[in-house]
Amino acid sequence: MEGLAGLNDIASVVEADRAHVWHHLSQHKQYETVDPRVIVEGKGMRVWDAKGKEHLDAVSGGVWTVNVGYGRESIADAVRDQLVRMNYFAGAAGSIPGSIFAKRLIEKMPGLSRVYYSNSGSEANEKVYKMVRQISHRHHGGKKWKILYRERDYHGTTIAALASGGQKQRNAQYGPFPDGFVEVPHCLEYRKQWDVENYGERAADAIEEVILREGPDTIGCLVLEPVTAGGGVIVPPEGYWQRVQEICRKYDILLHIDEVVCGVGRTGTWFGYQHYGVQPDFVTMAKGVASGYAAISCTVTTEAVFNMFKDDASDPMSYFRDISTFGGCTAGPAAALENMNIIEREGLLANTVAMGDYALDSLSALMDKHKAIGEVRGKGLFLGAELVADRDTREPADEKKVQAVVADCMAQGVIIGATNRSVPGFNNTLCLSPALIATKDDIDQITGAIGAALGRVFG
Ligand code: PMP
Repeated sequence: MEGLAGLNDIASVVEADRAHVWHHLSQHKQYETVDPRVIVEGKGMRVWDAKGKEHLDAVSGGVWTVNVGYGRESIADAVRDQLVRMNYFAGAAGSIPGSIFAKRLIEKMPGLSRVYYSNSGSEANEKVYKMVRQISHRHHGGKKWKILYRERDYHGTTIAALASGGQKQRNAQYGPFPDGFVEVPHCLEYRKQWDVENYGERAADAIEEVILREGPDTIGCLVLEPVTAGGGVIVPPEGYWQRVQEICRKYDILLHIDEVVCGVGRTGTWFGYQHYGVQPDFVTMAKGVASGYAAISCTVTTEAVFNMFKDDASDPMSYFRDISTFGGCTAGPAAALENMNIIEREGLLANTVAMGDYALDSLSALMDKHKAIGEVRGKGLFLGAELVADRDTREPADEKKVQAVVADCMAQGVIIGATNRSVPGFNNTLCLSPALIATKDDIDQITGAIGAALGRVFG
């Protein structure tokens, strides 16, 4: 295989991995009998593993990240040039790529004006929680301190981010968690909680019910994913977002939209919220910002929020007393800038819309033959197929069968994902998030593999 030529001792790489690397989200007992997966090369939509096997990656690096695809030399060049010029200085100072990327980003986000850099989606979200708590202390006598989050949403892996996570089984064994995080119901109509016509508005009204129960004066912010990712690829029903915005305004609650997955093109617009005509107070983003070529996350907010942290310069407690060391790395914004250039130069938003529609149609077509698909959902190149044991009762498919479909696709050389394992009730949705460069041939290969796998697993 091309590219493995220089690595003549790949077996020792795999052995070193088996001996010393603790993989994320993995039960390591399995590696006593099978080799750990080591990915050694990528180009476009494809990656090669240590055994030389080629895979079509339908999940952009496993977790919705490599939006512009693998092997982008122009990003590598931009990062290299920046690193030899100036690699790092703490974020109390600015940098050339940090300044230019912030300007370019803000041009795409009307109504927002300030970018705070850190390294991961979890951190970007934690920054918001800290800002909200500080605003509460300084402007609301410490009373507006609670943060609402939604069942099934996910906002990260750190303890406070987990406290705001709506997949409670993920949190088991990591508590106790900090106080002040309050859950609102999810809005997935396929898993109906209310038997009404205008489901979107009803699901949003459920948020208002929680606000009234908790006391509107105690709530500082509401955090939502625009389209829920790991909790089931949930595209909110019509009317939902408009009503959510009204409710936030009515009770003076800051709206925080977590674009860690949807941000930077995934759904066919720069940001997922831009489909719904809402105006957030905070937007967080990470994965697709630099497509995994460097670690970067952004917490973006309004001038009004920003001004609350500089209104009294004589008060030493007034400014945002926060730092992330590596928020000062210049590789992140340098990579992000070229990532954005690529999306513009190659028209990848338009491709995402076109290929997203094509993929949704192709998945829907599979439903005729495969009764195991209960519903397909998606926005742009962010798609899900919920698998069921029975289409009429909508009983979720057994997790083992869902994983068998994923494994069968893998054996066919196509990497797909599924919603969270070990989270009963949420673990039955196949996930697709190919790079925004996907072609019809790529989509055909992906849906073809899924169809074949469903046939073998469900009959
Ligand atoms: N928010 C959402 C919606 C996510 O899907 C994730 C990661 N899967 C995060 C936040 C956390 O991002 P990170 O892993 O970079 O901390």
